Amino acid sequence: MFKFFDAHCHLTDTNIPEYVGCINNAAQMADWGAVINSANHPNIFGAIGVHPWYATNLPSDWDVQMCHLLCDNPELMIGEIGLHKGRTDAELQIPVFIRQMEIATELGRGVHVHCVGMWNTMLQILDSFGTRRPPFMLFHRYSGAITDIANIAERYNAFFSYRGDADAGRVCNTPRDRILVESDTDNVQNVITSARDVAAQGNMDTKTFVNNAIRMINHE
Ligand SMILES: [Zn+2]
Repeated sequence: MFKFFDAHCHLTDTNIPEYVGCINNAAQMADWGAVINSANHPNIFGAIGVHPWYATNLPSDWDVQMCHLLCDNPELMIGEIGLHKGRTDAELQIPVFIRQMEIATELGRGVHVHCVGMWNTMLQILDSFGTRRPPFMLFHRYSGAITDIANIAERYNAFFSYRGDADAGRVCNTPRDRILVESDTDNVQNVITSARDVAAQGNMDTKTFVNNAIRMINHE
């Protein structure tokens, strides 16, 4: 059993301590191969996707390539995907996000979501999917409204991951069985600080973050 679990990282080196589990997210197509290889490690789970910062200059068959890799690798999740105000053109980001959500619902894969400054658009898009849902959604470094947390959690089987610098109000208002912690770096050891800080903010045991992560991944 892992002592810590990094719910969102971008590894450059898969030599990680045996007491840490993690979800290694791709940011762009160029990362997909390395993420898939990393997931051969027993402690590493992989997610491939196109991050909103990189939703430009994609080949016309990017989604077909993504589907093939997902079908060949049934454990693989989808991430990191999302919306980021002012980074790349929203007209480019939105269809790329929607397409990846469609793939997630069709193939039944959990998604890892980045959303900055576009929460209304995010919630409208999710709403437009009606009852079609990925098995779970992880909102990494959640920055949406505190008052939306309970609804999002319930509606989308959503989980929320934080670092130590997270707003204490968000941490305290996230259901205990839905909180994870992350480094959002290439060094999973940074998750130890995140776990201790978030546990202190929420008056929780760091083991809870590991249990929540395993439950999320296993769709329990
Ligand atoms: Zn990230």
